[in-house]
Amino acid sequence: MPTRRERIISLLEERDYSPSELARALDLHGKGSVKIILEDLKAIQKILKRDGKVLLIKPAECRNCGFVFKPEIKVPSRCPRCKSEWIEEPRFKIESK
Ligand SMILES: [Zn+2]
Repeated sequence: MPTRRERIISLLEERDYSPSELARALDLHGKGSVKIILEDLKAIQKILKRDGKVLLIKPAECRNCGFVFKPEIKVPSRCPRCKSEWIEEPRFKIESK
């Protein structure tokens, strides 16, 4: 039985996912699920680096004004420019060689 992190890695090798989509794909529900995924992604980023692979990050974006956040492993709660909370989550993918 693969661990949760191994399952995330195989998903991200197929295509890109947002943290919420990963939580759904892994059957994680509830308030803390995205936080768990973000912690996993940080650990996975280190594992990949060791193996010479890269975790690609499409940054979060404000859906109200189009502001683009820094490419980070986190889900921003509000836009610094327009204060909107309508935020498109970042998307993650493992670069395939
Ligand atoms: Zn905005």
